[in-house]
Amino acid sequence: MDFTLSEEQLMIQQAARDFAQQELLPGVIERDEAQKFPTDQVKMMGELGFMGMMVDPKFGGSGLDTLSYVLVMEELSKIDASASVIVSVNNSLVCWGLETFGSEAQKEKYLAKLATGEIIGAFCLSEPEAGSDATSQKTTAIDKGDHYILNGTKNWITNGSSADVYLVIAQTHVEKAHKGINALIVEKGMKGFEIGPKENKLGIRGSDTHSLNFNDVVVPKENRIGEDGFGFKFAMKTLAGGRIGIAAQALGIAAGAYEMAKKYSKERKAFGTEISNHQAIAFKLADMHTQIEAARFLVYKAACDKDNGANYDLSGAMAKLYASQVAMETTVEAVQIHGGNGFVKDYHVERLMRDAKITQIYEGTSEIQKIVISRSILTSK
Ligand SMILES: Cc1cc2nc3c(=O)[nH]c(=O)nc-3n(C[C@H](O)[C@H](O)[C@H](O)COP(=O)(O)OP(=O)(O)OC[C@H]3O[C@@H](n4cnc5c(N)ncnc54)[C@H](O)[C@@H]3O)c2cc1C
Repeated sequence: MDFTLSEEQLMIQQAARDFAQQELLPGVIERDEAQKFPTDQVKMMGELGFMGMMVDPKFGGSGLDTLSYVLVMEELSKIDASASVIVSVNNSLVCWGLETFGSEAQKEKYLAKLATGEIIGAFCLSEPEAGSDATSQKTTAIDKGDHYILNGTKNWITNGSSADVYLVIAQTHVEKAHKGINALIVEKGMKGFEIGPKENKLGIRGSDTHSLNFNDVVVPKENRIGEDGFGFKFAMKTLAGGRIGIAAQALGIAAGAYEMAKKYSKERKAFGTEISNHQAIAFKLADMHTQIEAARFLVYKAACDKDNGANYDLSGAMAKLYASQVAMETTVEAVQIHGGNGFVKDYHVERLMRDAKITQIYEGTSEIQKIVISRSILTSK
């Protein structure tokens, strides 16, 4: 196994690092405080090719591999996990889902604009009564011949008010349970489509999370992704790749907090010496570094599995489970190393600690990852 990065991958990593330092870092604390969506930064990320990284260039994408995408996610997340979740949803869930399973007409109409960041997308699976148990869809898409009538509520939708295109999962044939679910492309502005108020969140506060209401929305049949009843499979396959992006986000949050803690420990003095000279602090850094490196290998392995056409359900779930745990533990320790300064906003680590928590919850909680992992290992030889 060789994780040596190519020249191209190193260049992309550096471009993301520079962008994060120059464009995301200024104002990141204020955006978090005010829950301000990074509109200008998203536009710039579109220009840099970060919004459609794996999309075929014929649809305006960057045509890169999953490992390059992971490298970008890691660098952006070191500084601003709100910006990186916008990138993650657009790339892994919306663009990948449309490119892999959408019709040529859907790709022509939506993918090119999504891949360049001209518009952004949202992925709408969760409902008030269907989170981890995504099969319990209450949103309905009733077949009316050449169109569907969509009714229901989605909640926790990332890019909820900023998106233009929404991939909405809904039940068409109740009697067929999860085999009767469809995925529909819904456009902002369709009659009967309302966006609920913004959630006031613990972390990733610069991203906008909303509930969405659909009241008799007429969705043309050509907006269905895949065959009738393909919607649940579409959601699961798309989320399997999405987990790699979130795992990379978690890795970046951990690495960002670690880098800040290491730097601070070499500057801050207590008892006549830099705190890094106290073994209790040095050992914390040793643990953080080791865990981050282990998480990195899991994340890169999952990305390589996807790039190599191997099954990445297990490796993606393991990467997300472990990287999110490392993000949580590392950020808590980074706050500790900063002492009182860790508890105030200017030093960034408290924000990273708040941001880390979501990586254990969305795109499948840690408990759900363990279900995926245990099923996979118990059914293999
Ligand atoms: C900020 C944010 C952004 C989000 N973005 C999106 C988005 O863009 N699109 C979207 O569709 N969704 C999104 N979500 C929703 C997210 O994916 C769900 O919150 C998540 O899947 C958990 O569902 P739930 O909140 O209903 O929790 P529940 O499913 O009610 O789970 C509650 C607890 O029970 C545990 N649990 C549940 N079932 C089991 C089981 N079988 N075994 C063991 N433990 C179990 C869970 O792990 C969890 O700890 C977002 C959520 C947040 C908070």
